[in-house]
Amino acid sequence: MEEKKTYKGIGVTGGRVSGRLHFITNEIKDDEDEAVNVGAELIKLENARKKALERVFETERRAREKIGSSEAQIFEIHAMLLEDEDLNEAIENKIKNGMSVSSAIREAGKEYEKMLSSLDDEYLSARAGDIRDITSQLVDALKNREKEEKTNTEPYILVANDLTPSQTVSIEKGEILGFVTFQGTPSSHTAILARAMNIPALVGVGEIDKKYENAFCLLDSLRGEIIINPSSEEIEEFNKDREKQSKIDIEHERYLRSIMNKPAVTGSGHKIMIYANIGDTREVEGALANGCEGIGLLRSEFLYLSKKTYPKESQLFSAYKEIATKMQGRRVIIRTLDIGADKRADYFNLDREENPSLGLRGIRLCLERRDIFKTQIRAILRASYFGKIAIMIPMICCENEIIEVKGIIKECELELKKENLKFDEKIELGIMIETPSSAIMSDILSKHVDFFSVGTNDLTQYTLAVDRQNSKVAHLCDQNYEPILRLIEMSSDAIRKNGGWIGICGEMAADLSLTQRFADMGIDELSVSTPYLLGVRGKVSECK
Ligand code: PEP
Ligand code: MG
Repeated sequence: MEEKKTYKGIGVTGGRVSGRLHFITNEIKDDEDEAVNVGAELIKLENARKKALERVFETERRAREKIGSSEAQIFEIHAMLLEDEDLNEAIENKIKNGMSVSSAIREAGKEYEKMLSSLDDEYLSARAGDIRDITSQLVDALKNREKEEKTNTEPYILVANDLTPSQTVSIEKGEILGFVTFQGTPSSHTAILARAMNIPALVGVGEIDKKYENAFCLLDSLRGEIIINPSSEEIEEFNKDREKQSKIDIEHERYLRSIMNKPAVTGSGHKIMIYANIGDTREVEGALANGCEGIGLLRSEFLYLSKKTYPKESQLFSAYKEIATKMQGRRVIIRTLDIGADKRADYFNLDREENPSLGLRGIRLCLERRDIFKTQIRAILRASYFGKIAIMIPMICCENEIIEVKGIIKECELELKKENLKFDEKIELGIMIETPSSAIMSDILSKHVDFFSVGTNDLTQYTLAVDRQNSKVAHLCDQNYEPILRLIEMSSDAIRKNGGWIGICGEMAADLSLTQRFADMGIDELSVSTPYLLGVRGKVSECK
């Protein structure tokens, strides 16, 4: 009888799924070789590097085709690491000292990885995993091994220490039933992507023993647990629950689709606009097909993270114009660049920070690097001529920041006028309420803007002092909504008093247990990932 084991974690989507586990690791196989002679080993190294590079470029091309988003950038980083001079010099020196090429790759890779993971820098230490990945690819190329692929054609439940947002996005929906990660929290960007893709997922479960590779399991993200090698009674109960759930789901979805194009209005007559959160131009169709009335949050980082250098104004303009055009007059809220913290691109050359979440991120970075900010604002303004675009500024903490932002927008408008370029002269401006300071100062800030949108992911992190990336403290957010709700209420009262409107675009917007409370506060808009659009609309219409 196989050993049964239950792991608890945090469910990030509401699904139940059963299947076999498959672990993803980046371990390097350690089959040894004898060194022939230095010259021959160096030639073997060069050939392996070329082959590995070809494979990485091919993977990048496939990822771009399949996901077409910023997330394919991980493979650009892999290509850069394969060509990294320091790493290559370290490998070559070991070969010159008599090591075989495969041992040299492994040894140099381990040293480099150790050095990176010892750095007190979140971004650089995350690169340690990439070094493991590319040294493994180099050894595979050397041995002429194909990249380890799951040969089993049956869909499986993927298990990993953690997944980068790039890996999450490159998951083939039909290939994977769900995923489980040892680390991660519900508001990490990986979890947000899993929700957008509607994949049952459990994060922060702690380490699962690799002996369970291929073991059968029940993944229940509603209960937040995974049962490996379950008993027949447990399987029966799980299947019954799932069947019951899917019957409800089908009937409920049929009903929700029937009201999809009707306004979401509460019993007392308060209308709430149901908007979508997107991160890519290609998510627009899906959002429209699920009845979104607007885009409440375009995470505009996507066009930056997929590049090796700063995107040009023309590239940003055409992406924003494409979204505005597809939305056919519905509002599109473009959140300006929120780089920093866990979202980084090498070419920004950001300094190392002790606390990146409290550092130069979002609008703070944009106000330091005005050239980058102005390029984006000009592109947004130009696109505003082709639809109903609004500008939204992240990470605002004080009045001065918004005054400075308005000055920059004015400057861009004057430039465009001089250049005879058209834009919407009445473009709406809003800020995200995602710092306690912005909520507390909302009576002052509301005088400067047309709308607020509450980013509950960061508002929770900063209010409860709980790092949204750290699974060890994630439980401190469980049901601890009241402090956040009070800040939202305070902001809602302030903006409405000044004639503006308020939405919520963080993950709390999709929490149906809070919809009534949001309606009572007079929230005007709820913006959620596509899979939640129908449910939130349905819930609003059930509100008192
Ligand atoms: C938020 O903080 O709630 C938010 C919507 O922004 P992001 O998740 O991109 O930080
Ligand atoms: Mg945020």
